[in-house]
This record gives sequence, C-alpha cells and structure tokens, in this order.
Amino acid sequence: MIAASHNSSQFDTWQSCMRAAITDPRELLQLLDVDMKFLPAARLSAARFGLRVPRGFLARIRRGDIDDPVLRQILPLGAELDDRPQFVADAVGDLAAARVPGLIQKYRGRALLIASGSCAVHCRYCFRREFPYGEHTASRADWRAALAQLAGDSSIHEVILSGGDPLSLGDAKLAALTRGLAGISHIKRLRIHTRQPVVLPERVDAAFCGWLRQTQLQKVMVLHINHAQEIGPELVAACAALLEAGVVLLNQSVLLAGVNDDVDALHALSEALMAMRVLPYYLSLLDRVRGSGHFEVSEERAKLLVGTLMGRVPGYLVPRLVREIPGQASKTPVAVSLMT
Ligand code: SF4
Repeated sequence: MIAASHNSSQFDTWQSCMRAAITDPRELLQLLDVDMKFLPAARLSAARFGLRVPRGFLARIRRGDIDDPVLRQILPLGAELDDRPQFVADAVGDLAAARVPGLIQKYRGRALLIASGSCAVHCRYCFRREFPYGEHTASRADWRAALAQLAGDSSIHEVILSGGDPLSLGDAKLAALTRGLAGISHIKRLRIHTRQPVVLPERVDAAFCGWLRQTQLQKVMVLHINHAQEIGPELVAACAALLEAGVVLLNQSVLLAGVNDDVDALHALSEALMAMRVLPYYLSLLDRVRGSGHFEVSEERAKLLVGTLMGRVPGYLVPRLVREIPGQASKTPVAVSLMT
C-alpha cells in the first residue's frame, strides 16, 4: 500500500478531489510502481472506457502488484479488448425498461433514477460502461419528467438513486429532488446506490449528512464494496456518520475473478462490513457487459464459494447470490447448498 498521493489541504473538498482524479494510465502505473509493459494495453482499453480513480484511493492498493484485488478493479487491461459473443452493451435491459428519460422501472413498487452519468471511479466491470447517459439522466431539466411520472403511479413506494454515481451530484440538486419527492405521498423510501463513500470518503461531509438527516423519507444506502482491502479508516468514519444520520447501510458486491472469487476474501469482507455495521446484501454474478468477460466467475464456482461461506459465518453475514435476468420481476436468486 502507499500513502495517499496528495495532501488534504491541496484537495480539501470532495469536488476538488473528483477534479484531481487520475485519468492517465501512465501516471497510475508510475504512482503504483507497476511495470510499464502494461501501458500500451491500458491506453487502448482506456480509449474505450476511460480510466478514473481518486488519488486518495491509491492508499488501498499494494504497490508493484499487478494482481492486487483493488487495482484489478480500476486498471484497464488488454483483456477488455477481447470481444466475446454473449457480452453486449446493455446486458441488463436498462433501455427497454426506461419510462421517461432517466427513469427506469423493472420491478413492482420501486423505480430507479439515473441521477448522474458521472462517477468518481471507473470500475472496469461496470454494467453501465456503455450506457447513453447523455439522453438518459433524470437530473436534467430539474427532475421534472421523472417526478411527474412518479407522481402519476401510486404503486411506487421507493425511489432508487443510481447512475453513474448519484453522489456525483451536489447537495443542492439532491435537495431539489427530495423536495420534489416530499410532495408525492406514496413515496416512502429513498435508496441510494453508490460507490463514492468507498473511493472518495470526502463526499460524506457535514453538508451531505445534514441533507440526509433532514429528509423525512426512510433512507437506505447500498454501498458497493467488493474486497475488504477497500475499507480504510476514512470509510469506517464515513459509515459511522451515515448511520448517525439515520441511514440503513447495506453492501452489494459483484463476484469478480481475480478480485474476490475466494472464500477467504468473501469471509474477510463480511467481517469487515459487520465491524462497521454494514450488512452484506447481494453478491451478484457478473452482468455480461462488453469488455468485462475476464471478470466472469462460473455459477458453479459461485455456489461453491457461497456454500462454503455459509459454513463459516452467521446467516446475516452471507450475501444473497443473485443474477440479473432482463425481464424478470426481481433479481434472480441462485440456490446455494451448504458446503462443509
Ligand atoms: S461507480 Fe458504479 S456506475 Fe460508476 S463505474 Fe463503478 S460500477 Fe459503474
């Protein structure tokens, strides 16, 4: 691991940390002391889906180790250029489920807003790496079309903020949304899916927690942490602040080859989550998006891993193994048997 490559007085707000993110593969390899032989492929892959990583997140990565489980999530590799027939642009059927621009409804009772097309980090396995955010972002035009659609459908009780990363939006835009939602009596709950507290814990500042505290909606945040090594003291402090603001914290991981396809890694992640009062919620099989095939773990191996985890930890620390099948009424659970 290395110390964060900036001093905090230089980048003292989350916005300045976002602007200062590393986007050049050469700089990333240099800072992490990784062999420059990986640079040409990294550049080619980054031309398809750009590199982006906050400088502070480098502290979670081992120096000089191309196999580091956190580095694998952010470094463009040549394997991304292997186009496989079943790996497509919209692997989860997002576009077919769009109701108005930026509002996606797949499941009964809840609807998802594409709140922002930006992320603090670009995860190489991202299922929305080719999503056309330009035409499908609900925060454009002050949420008007999305709010009108939500107001007209009394079956929807939960609004999910997704993206991109919804916390790429400033607090004023988030507040405008919750003001709009407050006027819709059938909306009870706000769920935020985000990776920002993990890769940019500066985002969980006093103003953001203040916004959370004052909203009357029930609040759930689903963090995206795939490996215990991503958890540092800043994230632990951010989770404590979120809990104090009245947020229910859950975690969702993707099962990724070379990152967490190992029962010890899954075990360590569940324990580290519990230590900061975050419950493991889902462990998703990879969505087959173009460029991510090298991350795929077979369903058979996934069942073996989760079945073994079941024999090691209490049930509330075993995430549900699921896959997303377009057109289904919820995520599809994958049946797992206990392995002893
Ligand atoms: S933060 Fe989420 S939306 Fe953004 S690149 Fe990572 S997985 Fe994709």
